[in-house]
Amino acid sequence: MVTHAQGASLFTADGQRVVDAISSWWVTTHGHAHPRIAAAIADQATRLDQLIFAGWTHQPAQDVAAGLVSMVGEAVGEGALPYVFFSDSGSTCVEVALKMALGFWAHTGEKRDRVLVMQHSYHGDTIGAMSVGERGVYNAAYAPLLFDVGVIPFPHPGAEQATYDALERECRAGAACFIVEPLILGAGGMLIYPPQVLADMARICAAHGVLFIADEVMTGWGRTGTFLACEQAGIAPDIICLAKGLTGGAMPLAVTLASSAIYDAHYSTDRAKTFFHSSSYTANAIACAAACANLAIWREEPVREGIASLCARQAAGAEMLAQVAGIENVRQCGTILALDYVVGAGAGYLSNLQPRLLAFFRERGLLIRPLGNTAYLMPPYCISDEDLGRCHQALADAAGLVQAR
Ligand SMILES: *Cc1c(COP(=O)(O)O)cnc(C)c1O
Repeated sequence: MVTHAQGASLFTADGQRVVDAISSWWVTTHGHAHPRIAAAIADQATRLDQLIFAGWTHQPAQDVAAGLVSMVGEAVGEGALPYVFFSDSGSTCVEVALKMALGFWAHTGEKRDRVLVMQHSYHGDTIGAMSVGERGVYNAAYAPLLFDVGVIPFPHPGAEQATYDALERECRAGAACFIVEPLILGAGGMLIYPPQVLADMARICAAHGVLFIADEVMTGWGRTGTFLACEQAGIAPDIICLAKGLTGGAMPLAVTLASSAIYDAHYSTDRAKTFFHSSSYTANAIACAAACANLAIWREEPVREGIASLCARQAAGAEMLAQVAGIENVRQCGTILALDYVVGAGAGYLSNLQPRLLAFFRERGLLIRPLGNTAYLMPPYCISDEDLGRCHQALADAAGLVQAR
């Protein structure tokens, strides 16, 4: 039971302080209860809380949209993604992206409806988002509801050509779109691949007119070291999904950004071409006010410097952890550090290792939540040297626990 939170700390009802080393499931960027974001929320709540977002608009939504278009333009190319569609979560902004891609092809008259995905990916827990994610224990019971997709193998080092060949084959066959988590697959196990591979995949898609969807729900807002992961590859996707850190992690809000081509395909006096998607809380004004405050923090405060410092501190931690027996595949993508504990065959997510690790970290006052035998740190950028050092040490010490079992 947590009563309050501040910066990278959670405070429990029984008086303990816990370091939030995973940003409360990857959402908190500048720290909990950021004064500027909290003030914006409080202020907005007293003026305009919620407004129907069909036929009507409000200043916070206008400001978020304009701010995002300019910031994303700086990152991936001015004017590349000039349109913003609001929704409420990572899953829904992915659903919106898929609907935009399918709508694009439906309205331009070419029959393309096959969706390509990357092996081991995760895009959310609604039906469409599950359909484009890895199939497994989490969604086996719902398999009858999931649609068929083309799965492109993960580009393991040395096996990139197999990825390119599979993608080329599927693109040639006339796929509608390819949805990817750029540079790092999160829930799939913190699997990292280099910017060049991302650039090559985007190039293959572009050559065949296949729409490229970057799901930056986790990677956005500095996690990979830059505002967007895509900017490291120098690519401009046709569609970008953003959520988690959009409000700094304070309120649920998501956006799907689209190119002019996608917008134009839906812009018509023919009502059948309308982009049909709306939900009650679309562009909720309080959530938009939080996002505006987040954008202002990015513009006016040394956010990028804080991210660079965290990247360097994680690199030092990674170097230490790489020397620890019982730990393998120590890897880093920007502010994210991940590693695997060496375990015997057959130990998957549902083995008893994960709960034991969870308890081990909890006893040390750390919120670190392993994915099976993979542990990772994805802290708020404000985490102190001391707290981060404690996290690195706990990751090292947990190797003993794994060995002893
Ligand atoms: C978390 C996540 C989602 C889903 O976001 P929710 O807000 O939990 O629905 C989608 N894509 C990626 C890459 C994610 O990490």
